[in-house]
Order: sequence, then C-alpha cells, then structure tokens
Amino acid sequence: MNPVALSLAFSAAVLASLLAKFWLSNRQMRHVAAHRDAVPAAFAATVSLQAHRKAADYTLAKLRAGSVSEAFSGAVLIAWTLLGGLAWLNALVRAAVQPRWGDMAYQLALVGAFTLVGAVLDLPFDLYRTFGLEQRFGFNKMTPRLYLADLVKSTLLGIVVLGPLLALVLWIMQASGTLWWLWAWVALTMFQLLAMVDYPTRIAPLFNKFEPLADAVLESRVQALMQRCGFRAKGFFVMDGSRRSAHANAYFTGFGAGKRVVFFDTLLKRLSGDEVEAVLAHELGHFAHKHIAKRVALMLAFSLAGLALLGWLSTQPGFFLGLGAVPNATAPNDALALLLFMMGLPPFMFFISPLFSRLSRKAEFEADAYAREQASATDLVRALLKLYEDNASTLTPDPLYVAFYYSHPPAAARIAALGLGLAELPAAGALA
Ligand SMILES: [Zn+2]
Repeated sequence: MNPVALSLAFSAAVLASLLAKFWLSNRQMRHVAAHRDAVPAAFAATVSLQAHRKAADYTLAKLRAGSVSEAFSGAVLIAWTLLGGLAWLNALVRAAVQPRWGDMAYQLALVGAFTLVGAVLDLPFDLYRTFGLEQRFGFNKMTPRLYLADLVKSTLLGIVVLGPLLALVLWIMQASGTLWWLWAWVALTMFQLLAMVDYPTRIAPLFNKFEPLADAVLESRVQALMQRCGFRAKGFFVMDGSRRSAHANAYFTGFGAGKRVVFFDTLLKRLSGDEVEAVLAHELGHFAHKHIAKRVALMLAFSLAGLALLGWLSTQPGFFLGLGAVPNATAPNDALALLLFMMGLPPFMFFISPLFSRLSRKAEFEADAYAREQASATDLVRALLKLYEDNASTLTPDPLYVAFYYSHPPAAARIAALGLGLAELPAAGALA
C-alpha cells in the first residue's frame, strides 16, 4: 500500500465528510429557522406556537454546538494521525512500559492512554451539553455529583469489562496467525451476544432503577397486550430517567432472558393508558419484526468485513505510515493498528451512513404499522406528539438532513404512514 496515496485519500475523506456535515447542518438550521414562527398547518390544532418555537430554538442550539464539536473532532483526528500525535504517544508509552512490563502491558497501556486523552478532550463538550445546553432548555436534571458518579462508574466498568476483552483480542492477533481476524470476530461475536443478555439485567441497573409498573389497572392492560402479541409477560419496566433528564422515551432491548421494553418514568407520567398501550405495541412491533436480530446480523457482517480488512491492512507498512504512525520494530503492532483503523475508517463510512439511517426509519414504520394493528393509530399519534413536545424535536426538519441522520422518521411522515390524514389529528384538548 502506497502511504502517500493513503494520506491523500484519508485527508480527502476527512475534509469531504466535514464539509458535508457542515453543509447538512446549515441546511437544517436554515430550514428550522425559516419555519420557526409558524406551527405547520397540519399541527396547528395540536401544537402550541410556544412549544414549536422552543423546539426550533433547541434544535438550532444543538446544531451550533454540534458544528463546533465536529470541527474540533476533525482537528483532533488529523492531529492524532497525519500530524503524528499517535506516533508520539506510542513512542512515549512504549519506552515507558515495554522494557519493564512486556508487550501486552505496553499495548494495553497505549490503548488506555489514547482513550484517556480522547475522554479528557471530549469532557468540556460533554459538560457544556449537559450543564449548558440541556440546562438552558430546562432538560437537565443531573447534579454535578451524579455526573461525577456516572463518570467514575462508567470508567471503572470500561476497565473491568473492556480491558480483558481488549487483552483477549490482542492476544488472538498475536497468537493465531494470518487468520487472526476470523478468531477475533468469533470472540467479539460471543462477547456481543453475552452483552445483549447481560446489559439490560446487569449493567443498566448500575445506572438506573428498573421497576415493574406500580399502577395495577395499567399493569393488567399491559399484560394483556403483551400476551396478545406473544411477548413474555415479565418484560415491561419503568426506568427512573427523570434522575438525569426531562427528556421522555421508551425503548426495546435485549435478547433471550434480557428481552424487555423500558418506559422512562418521564414518558409514563405524560401518557394516558391508551397511549401507553399504543407505544408499547410499537415497541413490541420491533420484536415481532425481529429488528434486534436483523440489526445484530448486519452489525456482525460489517464487523467481519472490517476485521478482514484490518487483517490485511495490519500487514502493510504503508497503512501505518500513510496514517502518520511508524510501525514498531521490536514490539507488536496490533494495538497501533487497531487504533489507526478505528480513526481511519469513520470518515469513509460517513458516506454510507444514510443507508443505516434509512434501514432504521424503515423499521420504525414497520413498528408503527404493527402498533396500528394491535392498538390504535390515533393513540400512537397522540403519544408521539407528546414525545416530540417533551423532547423539543422539530416538526420541520430539512429532508436531506433527515435522509442522512434521522433514525426515526419525522412526525409528519409517521402520521401520514399511519393512515391518519393530518387534518384528522387528535383535537387540541387531548394534549395536556
Ligand atoms: Zn421504534
């Protein structure tokens, strides 16, 4: 592999993806700003001008902050790679660790140091998001103390869970010859499947409380719906999302015994019994259509392709040199190759990301259709509008921005697909 050609292709991808992000973000800003002062006619009866303006202002503030952080990340990426940041860190860590502690310790320390620097650089942006932006719009419920506790917990968890996994992968890379990428894929797949069972039941409860429904009447309705849809009866949980944020949400997760539907307490508080059923039916629709299994299959196919690519790249000195690093002469290059690959790939992947967004939106339409059959389209629309309002999601996004980024279709498209004419939207009184 020619290092100069790789450097050029990589620079071009970084620049092109950054320009595309700015352009899309600008389009979205102009679109949202242009519609800020009038609720779209179809929603006029259900959404107040005040809520509509708040959604516009929130969306604009997030986009502005997002552009600053994207520009910074782009600069950091170039600094790590072409400007030699990783080469420098690698030389430093290798000299400090390898002679005394050996190859594996050096490689783990390199990944650890890289991750630490990245986390420190990202911290100001995350603090601003939480205590600046979210706070300003009244969404943040996190205290500095809880923020710190989360940070400590997730760092420890990362070390305890991902440290041994990394060591295993590095060992496989070192010990299993040219087909290491296949064995690494097997190990990663097993870890992934285990994590899907364990995450909802063991990891997520470290951060939030998950409780069964307290309301007996609602509980029996929920049970009846789950039985009708052939879903395990003990899979409905309420999460104390209000500890951290006023944003409302519901999600489906897990695999096997970990399979569950989770409602944020913030959402549950806002919905009527009928609306809870409709949202639950939507989440069950994701299971009925096997969206988790399909997503996992796609991800595993991609990770196999990615690892095979890395298997080849890591044998090419040009891969290291082209991304601004220098292969080690007397130490394994596996950790270095992993880090370069993780940084080198995303600028290229950005251009196929609309495909994934599109698949995700298609799944949402399918889950909505399922909810229409099992519950009621009108109730789902009511619930959706409350969800949009609580999250200050804009009702007037730019179509191209949607195509690139939106994992969920915009409100108008979902309502139209549910077969409700926009004029038949639930009456204003329905929305508290
Ligand atoms: Zn969904």
